[in-house]
Amino acid sequence: MIYLDHAATTGMEAEAVSAMLPFLSERYGNPSAVYQIAAKSRAAVAKARKQAASVIDADPSEIYFTSGGTESDNWAVTAAFEAAGGRGHIITTAVEHPAVLRVCEYLERERGARVTYLPVDRDGYVEPEAVFRAIRRDTVLVSVMAANNEVGTVEPVYRIASELRGRGILFHTDAVQAFGHIPLSVKDTGIDLLSASGHKFGGPKGTGILYIRRGVHIGSLLRGGAQERNRRAGTENVAGIVGLGAAAEIAKRHMEERGRYVRALRDRFAHRILAEIPFCHLNGAQKNGLPGTVNVTVDYVSAESALIMLDMKGICASGGSACSSGSLNPSHVLLAMGRSAEEAKSTIRFTLGYDNTEEDTDTAVEALSGIVRQLRAMSPKYEQRVSGDHRNG
Ligand SMILES: *Cc1c(COP(=O)(O)O)cnc(C)c1O
Repeated sequence: MIYLDHAATTGMEAEAVSAMLPFLSERYGNPSAVYQIAAKSRAAVAKARKQAASVIDADPSEIYFTSGGTESDNWAVTAAFEAAGGRGHIITTAVEHPAVLRVCEYLERERGARVTYLPVDRDGYVEPEAVFRAIRRDTVLVSVMAANNEVGTVEPVYRIASELRGRGILFHTDAVQAFGHIPLSVKDTGIDLLSASGHKFGGPKGTGILYIRRGVHIGSLLRGGAQERNRRAGTENVAGIVGLGAAAEIAKRHMEERGRYVRALRDRFAHRILAEIPFCHLNGAQKNGLPGTVNVTVDYVSAESALIMLDMKGICASGGSACSSGSLNPSHVLLAMGRSAEEAKSTIRFTLGYDNTEEDTDTAVEALSGIVRQLRAMSPKYEQRVSGDHRNG
């Protein structure tokens, strides 16, 4: 199998798995209890909090463990809105993950929130000026993702956050794709809330964090016990938290060298696709993008068919995103970037990881090239285009 879908999820770091194991067997103490095995669990959670905090230069006391990116996004957006009295205006973007978009739509529909969904340019880039122009007297929250999960574009979150400082507007960023992959720091930035997810950087699924800057007062999403300093109820997922912490430490330690490796691999892969398969276009910011993302529109080819054929050759890739594949809707991200529904349905996302090799990507290019030839041979539109081009010289 050749796995080229790291934005959907990553395999776990072996070290993170082994760090978790004792907490799935003999170290089962509830961190809130008083006896010694409870203290071991408590210490393990505290260590993981430090490890996660260190990736973004936060203080451990600003890290709250959750069940994943989705919960963190739901918590941040909902609680920020409620902290402002449950009324007001939210600014977000048209290219956010559904974990932000659906929550904004819910607040709009059921809770009277006013929401601005900012457009993006052809590369999926949010103009900071557009954010500033959208600010109103009643704006209470701005939520802009750190990097896009479909096209990899890295958004100008520092510029936006610093502009919002001291204006009484909270700034949240969904950093699920950025955390542990590209340098990210909350120190002196004006970022108030930041979401990350364990399984996107070598940790276990069902684990995440919400960073809440010290001094930011938002309520809870889950109410109940006093865990997570009264802010996130429920007995801690100790093993999961330990796995997330270990993966965070490894990701931080290797970020630079892995980033460099993956980017070189990605550039070579993208270059070969463009050179060897005609009528292909890359989507997303190429220079200012995530190291491993290759989002490519292959004209006259149904991505759905191509993905099935790639799978038959043991190659895992996605349409727009893992969450939307299986649905017939074209990617909202590509539509917001000005692509047609037809282009969106001809788009494949490959996301590489440091465990991929040149052999993997070479095999993928050759497989894709053959599949594209096969599918285009059945496409009347393609026939028209090539014969048309021929006539035009
Ligand atoms: C994967 C993802 C999420 C959701 O995270 P889960 O841990 O799977 O719930 C949210 N935002 C972005 C940008 C993602 O890529």
